[in-house]
Amino acid sequence: MTLQPLASYRRITVKIGSALLVDRESGLKREWLASLSSDIAVLAKAGVEVCVVSSGAIALGRTILGLGRRALKLEESQAAAAVGQIALAEAWSDALGRRGLKSGQVLVTLGDTEERRRYLNARATISTLLKLKAVPVINENDTVATSEIRYGDNDRLAARVATMMGADLLVLLSDIDGLYSAPPGRNPAARFVPVVEHITPDIEAMAGAAASELSRGGMRTKLDAGKIATTAGAAMIITAGTRMNPLAAIDRGERATFFRPSETPVRGYKTWIAGNLEPAGRLVVDEGAVRALLSGKSLLPAGVRAVEGAFSRGDTVAVLAPEGSEVARGLVAYDADDAVKIAGLKSARIAEVLGYEGRAAMIHRDDLVVTHATRMLAASGD
Ligand code: GLU
Repeated sequence: MTLQPLASYRRITVKIGSALLVDRESGLKREWLASLSSDIAVLAKAGVEVCVVSSGAIALGRTILGLGRRALKLEESQAAAAVGQIALAEAWSDALGRRGLKSGQVLVTLGDTEERRRYLNARATISTLLKLKAVPVINENDTVATSEIRYGDNDRLAARVATMMGADLLVLLSDIDGLYSAPPGRNPAARFVPVVEHITPDIEAMAGAAASELSRGGMRTKLDAGKIATTAGAAMIITAGTRMNPLAAIDRGERATFFRPSETPVRGYKTWIAGNLEPAGRLVVDEGAVRALLSGKSLLPAGVRAVEGAFSRGDTVAVLAPEGSEVARGLVAYDADDAVKIAGLKSARIAEVLGYEGRAAMIHRDDLVVTHATRMLAASGD
């Protein structure tokens, strides 16, 4: 299949995996970075706005500090990231600078995309960089991220950035050239999948959990990224970044898997809700509620069968169908304790049970997004 040329996109987020940028012995792969930077300069010249999400801080810091291959304690990875990130930023600024491009470093923590106010703030900064013709070079702020509060992989971070910035394409450059029907390392009969129309459970089953030694994400996190991106109307490409000029290689027709964007993407505020990485809780609902949600209605307490998790009012929760698949996500109108008390009840009884006049809906339709796969099933009449 011939893909549409990269220069025809308006805004592209490119994610670069650690294994591409860092060699364990010799450190940074400068020649490769120079070739990628020249691809970015070609796109910039064609009027495409490019955001870079670059991994490699921990891997590079590990090499610089001579920490070898052993597993690192949390404080050691944080220290490695501190050393590696400064070198990584210098390398990007130098490589893009040689191609006539300015760049700016943006380090984010999970809260910067998951909390609405901080999300808007990060978006404003990155937009301003783009307006000023500086390439944003983004990474997780690994020096302060703890194991519980982090993205952990840059695939999902890149998808969050892509959708936050309204990108129309997300490119994941990694050490694998696309999606296969099974993990190709372990299964020689695995078939290459050139195009994914929708990320269905069948597609998800193709991803093994394995990641390469240097990077955190495997195919699993790449498909999670794909769901976030395509739901918000961005296409996604997974391809091997291992060759020189990896972006030009996509246009030349080198092997890549293309994920088609949703034809009915969510927009604006709802993009932020749909891409939430860690819902604070789950509401299991009945069949009637699933039908109501698919037709664009609010989720009423009457349709809620079970409440899981310790969430607060305003948190994002996942809405599950009776058999456990995710149907929707939304901002819940009640704390978990109160949600438990009113689950299954008619809205008219809320005041009597809780002792105050609450909202009629558990999740109002304006704060609710039906997720990708289910929308597709609804459209096909399943
Ligand atoms: N943020 C990590 C780093 O720069 C990389 C995470 C990943 O490999 O996805 O080292």
